[in-house]
Amino acid sequence: MPPKILIVEDNPLHMKLMEMTLRDRDYTLVKAGDGEEALALAVRERPDLILMDIRLPKLSGCEVTKRLRKNPTFSDTPIIALTAHAMAGDRESVIKCGCDTYISKPVDTRQLPAVIREILLRRKGEPADGDHGGQ
Ligand code: MN
Repeated sequence: MPPKILIVEDNPLHMKLMEMTLRDRDYTLVKAGDGEEALALAVRERPDLILMDIRLPKLSGCEVTKRLRKNPTFSDTPIIALTAHAMAGDRESVIKCGCDTYISKPVDTRQLPAVIREILLRRKGEPADGDHGGQ
């Protein structure tokens, strides 16, 4: 099965750009336009990776990430923060919320797939939960 990516983004132009960047690759894309929808879709769809806008209606991307991290299902799902602010302090603040890394918007159409691919490949190499201590 192709990896499933949940894209959380309220800005239609940014959403479109990410969709166009990723749609020709072997991913299943699921889209949410606000924080509450993001939580509901994450639980329903169990994505392999989440692209998380930070400024969102209803719940911020940080709040969504914090709530997901409390759920064991999402304790180590890769979450990439999307933020328009390239300020030095932003990186630390999204990492504090529980995001793994950070990409600034509008996304670079070559950087985004490269970052996703690298994270998914790295995770593939890790043993799955049930494999610890097995044969
Ligand atoms: Mn936004």
